[in-house]
Amino acid sequence: HCSAEELCGYLGLGQGRVPEYAGDLQGATWALLCRAVQRPAHEILAMALPDTKHQSARWVSPHDFQYCPRCVEKTPDLVLRHWRLAWSMTCETCGQALATKYPAKDVPSGLHGRALRGAEALKSAVATNNLARLRRVDLTMHLMAVLEIGNLRALTSGNERERLMALAAVGVSVTRPVA
Ligand SMILES: [Zn+2]
Repeated sequence: HCSAEELCGYLGLGQGRVPEYAGDLQGATWALLCRAVQRPAHEILAMALPDTKHQSARWVSPHDFQYCPRCVEKTPDLVLRHWRLAWSMTCETCGQALATKYPAKDVPSGLHGRALRGAEALKSAVATNNLARLRRVDLTMHLMAVLEIGNLRALTSGNERERLMALAAVGVSVTRPVA
């Protein structure tokens, strides 16, 4: 009987927008929030995106840059957390390939394969907090920006070709010297 923003205000989640990041939950009124959604605090925190102050800005998109056509057809307006992550290539719910706003035509299978390997490398680097590898990813993105073949946000770009190129570069960067 009230707007999402009003409800968020009541639960101590700030006014004006729905919380997405872990930091948005800092002021949460946990007793009310847990009772309202019938979930313990750690489960609610696990549903939030990691804060994007530092490195993670490169692999957590601030926008819904991709989606699952099959899941959205079944549930319009559905948005899932893992769709925001740079390494997500397929839907964890149904296994369908995720789609972006600007799909690339005639992607060479070699590029697609290299991008998948890059996505795996990035995912494991973040999961294990492999700082040396993450610095390398960062350096690779900067190098691509300097060479004007990519930009710092390419890993979560809605332009499929741009994103595949960036992921492929990440894959190459973890096995070969950047130079
Ligand atoms: Zn799906």
